[in-house]
Amino acid sequence: MHMYQELKRPKLYQFNCGDCVVTNVLEGFLHRDDLHPFVATNASAQEVEALAKDHCLPFPRMEHGFVATIIKTSTKLIVIDPGFGSIAPAPTTGWFEQGLLAAGYSVDQVDMVLISHCHPDHIGNVSRDGVLTFPNAEIVIGRAEFEFWKRGEGISKMRQPTAALFLKALLPFENQLRLIEPGDEIVPELRAIDASGHSAGHLVFRLTCGDEELLLLNDTTPHYVASFANPDWHFAMDDDPEKAALSRQKILNMASDDALPVIGFHIPFPALGYVSRRGNGFEFRPATYQFNLS
Ligand SMILES: [Zn+2]
Repeated sequence: MHMYQELKRPKLYQFNCGDCVVTNVLEGFLHRDDLHPFVATNASAQEVEALAKDHCLPFPRMEHGFVATIIKTSTKLIVIDPGFGSIAPAPTTGWFEQGLLAAGYSVDQVDMVLISHCHPDHIGNVSRDGVLTFPNAEIVIGRAEFEFWKRGEGISKMRQPTAALFLKALLPFENQLRLIEPGDEIVPELRAIDASGHSAGHLVFRLTCGDEELLLLNDTTPHYVASFANPDWHFAMDDDPEKAALSRQKILNMASDDALPVIGFHIPFPALGYVSRRGNGFEFRPATYQFNLS
């Protein structure tokens, strides 16, 4: 094991989507030794290794990154899935507030915290020690997701720590939550779309600002190569892998049919690009200068 040493890398990327200002924040990263089976529990190690090599990636080492998004609309400052916060599992995670400040915003200014689903890297920073991290923010989350964890039935052994975190970080604020359904308008610029499977009520978000659009894939695509090339590969962190694969196919079809730029929470920073069809699957095309043009 190497000692952690912080090397410089980009942690902030800001661009316009119509009248909205979007900021992607690198909340952190973890290094893992299990590209297989992490990104494909239903494919062989050889298949995953061949795909990795073809994309100039090592095997089996991998970087699992966490990218939160801030959207400034004409009326609201919205934070989407602000990371682990105080439950950061390593010094290489838990950087969200640093990024928020570097972007020129403060925790008090946040009007809304929008949550895609209740896994630790997405809800850990809603509160710390019983106090809301963003004191003036409305918290918005899908009803199916919230009710699944509140009911507490059918939770796998792997997800017991997640269930415990939910009880501590989110449930105490139940009366302050706004629960939404797929199809709902969150704010005039943002709409929720069902992408369940990764978790019971996992949502993706479609941003429409004037005539520009963007799709936040959240955890639909856990790996920027494997999940696109083989949408039917099961991610080890999917709560219902078969359903997650169907949602992945549906959402990637939408992104490529509608030529939507996408942001993915676990796509390498700045986690922004496009979806093209390739073979029986898709390919992620990282954004370069498309969003920098005036
Ligand atoms: Zn995640």
